[in-house]
Amino acid sequence: MCGIVAYTGSNEAYPILIKGLKRLEYRGYDSAGVALSQGNKIGLYKCRGRVADLDLFCSDKDIKACAGIAHTRWATHGEPNTQNAHPHLSEDGKIALIHNGIVENYLVLKKELMSRGYKFQSNTDTEVLVHLIQDIFVKEQVPLEEAVRIALGGVVGTYALAILSADNPGQIILAKKGSPLLIGIGDNEYYVGSDGAPIVEYTKKVVYLEDGDVAVVAPQKKLVIRNINDNAKKRPYWQKLEMNLEQLEKDGFEHYMLKEIFEQPKAIRDSMRGRLNVQKDVVSLGGIIEYETKMMNARRFIIVACGTSYHAGLVAEYLFENIARIPVEVEYASEFRYRNPLIYEDDVIIAISQSGETADTIAAVELAKRKGATVIGICNVVGSTLARATNAGSYTHAGPEIGVASTKAFTAQVTVLTLMALSIARKKGTLALSEYHQIIGCLEDIPEKVNEILQLDDIIKDISTHFVNKRNAIYLGRGVNYPVALEGALKLKEISYIHAEGYPSAEMKHGPIALIDEEMPVIVLATEQETYEKTVSNIQEVIARKGRIISIVTKGDTLVKEMSNYCIEIPATTELLTPLISCIPLQLLAYHVAVLRGCNVDKPRNLAKSVSVE
Ligand code: GLU
Repeated sequence: MCGIVAYTGSNEAYPILIKGLKRLEYRGYDSAGVALSQGNKIGLYKCRGRVADLDLFCSDKDIKACAGIAHTRWATHGEPNTQNAHPHLSEDGKIALIHNGIVENYLVLKKELMSRGYKFQSNTDTEVLVHLIQDIFVKEQVPLEEAVRIALGGVVGTYALAILSADNPGQIILAKKGSPLLIGIGDNEYYVGSDGAPIVEYTKKVVYLEDGDVAVVAPQKKLVIRNINDNAKKRPYWQKLEMNLEQLEKDGFEHYMLKEIFEQPKAIRDSMRGRLNVQKDVVSLGGIIEYETKMMNARRFIIVACGTSYHAGLVAEYLFENIARIPVEVEYASEFRYRNPLIYEDDVIIAISQSGETADTIAAVELAKRKGATVIGICNVVGSTLARATNAGSYTHAGPEIGVASTKAFTAQVTVLTLMALSIARKKGTLALSEYHQIIGCLEDIPEKVNEILQLDDIIKDISTHFVNKRNAIYLGRGVNYPVALEGALKLKEISYIHAEGYPSAEMKHGPIALIDEEMPVIVLATEQETYEKTVSNIQEVIARKGRIISIVTKGDTLVKEMSNYCIEIPATTELLTPLISCIPLQLLAYHVAVLRGCNVDKPRNLAKSVSVE
């Protein structure tokens, strides 16, 4: 949530900042703003709306500057309007600040500052930071970075900050706790971003700031990092940024989401690369090798995640329990951390997050670590907070996911979890060898099967026209297809704003059946599986109440096909791997419905990616 970009060097800052903001817009798009270092003044431009609106607003302004900070907001405190847009200025106009995170004790701080005469221009939590810093800066007569450090000592919450000062043109102060921030170094210049997207075009040499860091960048000067608590100086650890510029482009697709749906054969293949070799009979995840014995002997797995990653966790529950015979609990990370959960040292926690920055998931990981459990992470973004906070883990290697509604990250997560379950099952001996070979053989074929389903895009687009004016939808699935039903409903909700619910098919009769009438589309996952016959009965129950059936069936199916109003046929695979392919038509369906309804598919209202606030 919220994207931060900053630049200082000898080039024009504004174009770099705007381009960077556009690449980070998936993190929030309530408002955008930029503060520029212009001689001994700060030029501040901000407005409600998109980065493009800001760019238009700035088109007739003086934007010459060789340093600046820029922000795209996902509002947590205060309406999404111009007044609440970042950057926020100190009263004397000499300090500008942008923030990603939440100041949890902002009310106490605000009251205190107001009693000392500070006037607030916005309703954000963020604005307290700039006044607090200025207050300390003036009173203590210390360098600004020291004032920042002292101020942050009294702040409860999370932040990634970038601060510009009129007195010190070209210098940018950065700080991090809980929200991501990285610094790229160029030729006597520095680039800053919430992730690598605004930086990768210019340099691949980066430092990921860690919690508790305050850093100062200025052209021609070395990067200085100090610790907020003890002021100790830290040696910057430069790493290679694992990202390509081409991955950030739309590549001829109308939306990132569609591009990412179509990238799934590659994403799944990449997530298996070097980990699955059917010919050599190898399934191995390098990142967890050291912890595999611990995982094999775990009392249970607790999977913590949010949103789509939570659904990947639910699929994994079937996999781990079925083939590795390990008890699994799947928890929403936000609930897990606040209910004083029972966690034992022989529990293994598996935390799943696309960005690796999901605040609720990170907090759950910290809790589990404090209780002595082993924590395994699964995330897509290399070097993310989750990757650094866990004992071990596996990257999904799906490539940057920019569309706010997650697609390829989901299938890549399920692929990695499948490999994990297979590898543990093999070592534990809980899976018959013949079955093991059958599953890995099918897994290798999944990318090709996904490709086959993607060829049905036009058919699915056609079916979607019947959804456009619907207000509700029900998704049904059994067994491994139940989490897929949840995920399908979530996709539709997220991007088309149609109310949708996912249920285990058999649960329908315990309540949701009351909603069924001729207006209700019911999307049923009815692929070949143990419970196929039961699903057929559930479909009959819907038809008896005049519901409209859209079914996802295994190629060659005639029974369900004949009962359905619309039917999408997908290739056969082994039951446990079905989610990897049955989710694809649901992604396409949600996409086309949203496009037809005129919704902004890549930037759905009220949402943002990488939810780094709790
Ligand atoms: N809390 C700040 C605001 O509402 C920043 C929000 C965020 O980082 O998502 O403006």
